[in-house]
Amino acid sequence: MNILRINMSAETPEVKVEPLGDYEGLGGRALTSAIVSREVDPLCHPLGADNKLVIAPGLLGGTAAAMSGRISVGCKSPLTGGIKEANSGGQAGHVLGRLGYAAIVLEGKSKSDDVYKIYINKDGVKIEKDNSLKMLPNYDLIEKIKKEYGEKIACISIGPAGEMKMSAASVAVTDMELRPSRHAGRGGVGAVMGAKGVKVIILDDAVTTPRQPKNDEAFKDANKRFVAGLQKHPVTGQGLPTYGTNILTNIINEVGAYPTYNFKEGRFAGARKISGEVQAELEKQRGGNPTHGCHRGCVIRCSGIYHDKDGRYLTKQPEYETVWANGGNLGIDDIDKIAMLDFIYDNYGLDTIEMGVTLGVVMEAGLIKWGDADAAINLIHEVGKGTYLGRILGNGAAFTGKAFGVERVPVVKGQALPAYDPRAVQGIGVTYATSPMGADHTAGYSIALNVLKTGGFVDPLKPEGQVDLSRNLQIATAFIDSTGMCLFIAFALLDQPDTFQAFVDIVNGFYGWNMSDKDVVDYGKKVLGFERDFNLRAGFTKQHDRLPRFFNKEPVPPHNMVFMVKDEELDQVFNW
Ligand code: SF4
Repeated sequence: MNILRINMSAETPEVKVEPLGDYEGLGGRALTSAIVSREVDPLCHPLGADNKLVIAPGLLGGTAAAMSGRISVGCKSPLTGGIKEANSGGQAGHVLGRLGYAAIVLEGKSKSDDVYKIYINKDGVKIEKDNSLKMLPNYDLIEKIKKEYGEKIACISIGPAGEMKMSAASVAVTDMELRPSRHAGRGGVGAVMGAKGVKVIILDDAVTTPRQPKNDEAFKDANKRFVAGLQKHPVTGQGLPTYGTNILTNIINEVGAYPTYNFKEGRFAGARKISGEVQAELEKQRGGNPTHGCHRGCVIRCSGIYHDKDGRYLTKQPEYETVWANGGNLGIDDIDKIAMLDFIYDNYGLDTIEMGVTLGVVMEAGLIKWGDADAAINLIHEVGKGTYLGRILGNGAAFTGKAFGVERVPVVKGQALPAYDPRAVQGIGVTYATSPMGADHTAGYSIALNVLKTGGFVDPLKPEGQVDLSRNLQIATAFIDSTGMCLFIAFALLDQPDTFQAFVDIVNGFYGWNMSDKDVVDYGKKVLGFERDFNLRAGFTKQHDRLPRFFNKEPVPPHNMVFMVKDEELDQVFNW
């Protein structure tokens, strides 16, 4: 496997292919974080020539391992000012792996405002200036690319938000139907791609073959055991395939941890109307599909296809986080309007969580009314058009909160909080506060134990045990994110030791390694180490590992709890 470096500073962008070298053994998040930590000046401006955008399939990208197609995108984040890894589903992870690249590194910065497309196939790399692509939304862009390159490709692209270098801009990845519906959403990674002048990367893996394991028999056997384990677990085998991640709306609402009206309440009266159960039923009735994988080789298939009232494709099945951020968080209980917002975000290339929370801040400021979905949609079009107001909103919740003088802004390290109230689920509060990524639920998904009782139970309403829980999950997640496996495998790994062993055996069989449980833990710690070290050098202190103070002071109904994990305890998360 090689690293493909493209220097955009040169008159004609320069291409260099080099072996992994010191980065051997790293993939996905481990590789993006190692390259950013080692090669990027932590004090650089995120939109400047000194930042790098690293796009890396996981260790198992391009292999026949189930669930292994995710792709990591890393850089210094324009949103947080710290290190960022955002990962996405879609086809690009496997395709890039089959092409033999462990990472694409976009370096430097174009001196003009031209936009470029990069075409990669087995014969090499072609980079062309193509200003006809400028400011195209993602769906229109991919339609145009399809006409030129056919349908047997995978694309990584940005929409207008990325081109305008907004801090909420995402990087889009096409799914199995070549729709730009999967996004590395968080932290403004799309703005960094925009700053490099790269509009789209087209990947063509024609006449390539899957990467071959060192120990074929062990690999195949482990993969079989792994798939069987996922299929027999109630969450990965039944819940997620049937209702998608939005199955969580009713569950989280029931436990009183569903942030409503910008984190003022823990239950939303309209939750049922926007739940996964209702969504799946609508998808069936309208000819969509409630069970769909975002890339080949996914056996959980938590995704789906959402049609509008007339039975036409509108968007992929909106995820729980999207439905929450743009639903209960705003007092909106109309699932069609939320699906419309999801499509618009994907098309402009925006993080659905950051933008939903930004709209909550805007409603808090009184700019539009709670529950007014049409007004929310209009505001997002302002973002896509790049009006002055749109440019404020497109830079996320923290920026918008400042612009409108709002005190209650739910962010950590400048990044918006996801869909679980940290006062009703104290463990996730520890992850939000301490993750090097800013507030991020996937970095250490305590909901698994605090609420879903997979792998054990830690009382969500008590501060005891939450630091250990978050620490262990953050370490395990850093390893899973490095393999390219979808994080949802964790439900089965936590409950079924055999499935965890099968997962490690897949990695060992493929690479001919002999990783033990301790090696997995050490690997995760190493990744977090790269990230913490970068943030330290970027100027982050322990004071950045805190929730906004209103979570410590303002009790949230129905439990009327505040966040109780002490600052001194938060400082122990990375003390191993
Ligand atoms: S489980 Fe869901 S998110 Fe994960 S790879 Fe499958 S469809 Fe994508």
